Amino acid sequence: MEKCPCGSLMQYTACCKLIHDDLGKAHTAESLMRARYTAFTKGLIDFLYNTTHPTSRRFIKKVDVQSWTDQRKWMRLEILNTTKTTVEFKAHYLESLEPRIQHEKSTFKASHGKWYYLDGIFLS
Ligand SMILES: [Zn+2]
Repeated sequence: MEKCPCGSLMQYTACCKLIHDDLGKAHTAESLMRARYTAFTKGLIDFLYNTTHPTSRRFIKKVDVQSWTDQRKWMRLEILNTTKTTVEFKAHYLESLEPRIQHEKSTFKASHGKWYYLDGIFLS
């Protein structure tokens, strides 16, 4: 059985997959953030697009998300701090075999009972 890439120590099928199958299953900003990280590791571009808040979607193109995802090998997610609407995290990945870290504070917004990624700032 496959452990969930988000680091929850649960099986993927009992963790982020539930959210990948149904956006309404993300009950907190953190659970959506974890599901988005896992989606990056699996190249679930539609999920990443669909969980971007409608007001931010014009800033992203699926092809860009795809190529950006393809260039990286995601290794590990570290959640540093969460509030109701924000998640600060470090996503560890390899790019051209070099270990790198994306340190970001993301903001999420609930709309009609579902959580969406609004935007993020890079911290280091
Ligand atoms: Zn998970």
